[in-house]
Amino acid sequence: MVIYYGCRHCGKELGVLNHTEIDLSLRFLDLIEEQDISEMIVFEKDGDFRLEVICEHCQQALETHPDYHELDHFLQ
Ligand SMILES: [Zn+2]
Repeated sequence: MVIYYGCRHCGKELGVLNHTEIDLSLRFLDLIEEQDISEMIVFEKDGDFRLEVICEHCQQALETHPDYHELDHFLQ
């Protein structure tokens, strides 16, 4: 089982966590409110799952242009 990290806005792959790192990441997930987790995690068919986060580039864009928050795919 692995966790894929990707940006939910531009689709950029940010990294992959393998099972040895999952304990760490679950601890990280504990820090996020439950409601947010269900919105961030997408289950893939092979038992892996994908964590949709926001990359540094999109984060900066959102901070610069907060209105873009309402658009799912403002960067293509
Ligand atoms: Zn992005």
